[in-house]
Amino acid sequence: MKNFKIKAPLFILIILCFLGCKSTTQWKGQEPIKKVSTQTVPIQRQYKGVFDLGDGIFMSNDYSGARMNGVARTNDSLLSVLITPENLPINPSPWYGFKIWSETEKDQYVKLTYNEDAFHRYFPKLSKNGSTWEALDSLRYTSVKKIFNERELAESITMKLSLSKDTLWISAQELITSSEVDGWTNKKLMTNSFVTKSTIGESNQGRPINLLKIGESNDQKMIMVISRQHPPEVTGFLAMQAFIETISGETDLAKRFRAVYNTYVVPLVNPDGADNGHWRHNYGGVDLNRDWESFNQPETRAIRDFMREKVTETGGKFYFGVDFHSTWEDIFYTISPELKGNMPGLVPKVISGLEDEFPGYKPNIRPSPGTGTKINSTAFFFFEFGAESFTYEVGDNTPLEFVRKKGEVTALKLMEQLLK
Ligand SMILES: [Zn+2]
Repeated sequence: MKNFKIKAPLFILIILCFLGCKSTTQWKGQEPIKKVSTQTVPIQRQYKGVFDLGDGIFMSNDYSGARMNGVARTNDSLLSVLITPENLPINPSPWYGFKIWSETEKDQYVKLTYNEDAFHRYFPKLSKNGSTWEALDSLRYTSVKKIFNERELAESITMKLSLSKDTLWISAQELITSSEVDGWTNKKLMTNSFVTKSTIGESNQGRPINLLKIGESNDQKMIMVISRQHPPEVTGFLAMQAFIETISGETDLAKRFRAVYNTYVVPLVNPDGADNGHWRHNYGGVDLNRDWESFNQPETRAIRDFMREKVTETGGKFYFGVDFHSTWEDIFYTISPELKGNMPGLVPKVISGLEDEFPGYKPNIRPSPGTGTKINSTAFFFFEFGAESFTYEVGDNTPLEFVRKKGEVTALKLMEQLLK
């Protein structure tokens, strides 16, 4: 893997065309971030259990990562499920997850409905074991459309599910809770002598905020990687996994990188949100990616304190910081290129490296005006530490093979640039 060069198969080229060839109509991204209160507010907890729906059919939300706020048999052939958020107001990323089984084999219609002003967003994923997932057959899916903020979206959807005694799992995206994240770090990363794990704080509900250290350097040069402030943003997490596995890999580049730079990773910033099946917030009812100035929440404070103490103790510098998310389409939210941090030009070079590696791919880059306000994580990394930074957003429906490839290539280009 020394001379890494992708031989892009045809399907990747098609995906790239889908993602990049419409450069004249590239999505402008979300509205600029506004400062909001990040004081703790009450959240609504789900009533968890097994629901007997008659006719030998049962449903359950009694597991980590589930979200099903109510279910009713609305007629002989239809079960209606209600999905609501942990609290309001909230950005619309309605996570859902439940299990269903039947005493006899049958096809069953199940409708997903949401609270008013919300809409269906994630195409259903199905699993027979809770760990391998595939999308529902689109022929078994219908929706009722409505216009929400100029996008035509579904206010409800109906799935035709094949039920049997074996449990069928239904989920907005593949289920990755705190135990799956631990499984990944233990099996894929902790087997390397150059990876160590520590706990830098506790979430609202007392779950550990885990930090991985990857590298064998003296901490004079460091990078910071975080993911899953927003629980449903699984495609961003999958890109982060590929990125981190590449930095932890066997290539000469990765070995040279780890001798000079230590990479610090918080793979799951919001474990309570992931395990409680939240749409977006932590257990304090707060969007953590608006709390990087006020630090009212323990999850953001843990990362702030770790970084500050590290710099004070070692005299070292964070040269780069990245926060992985998911949204409608692939996009990079960067710091204004006029602002100079510890390695000016790093982020544009990494992104243009991606462009070189995937012919025809036109990255969608949206620099923030850079007013110095540290509302979100990457502004905090930049304005507090001078770390060149960006928010790495992966589309909800970006094909997973491309998500991984892009995560790998981003790590390779970054390591090359940081070692120059
Ligand atoms: Zn996000």
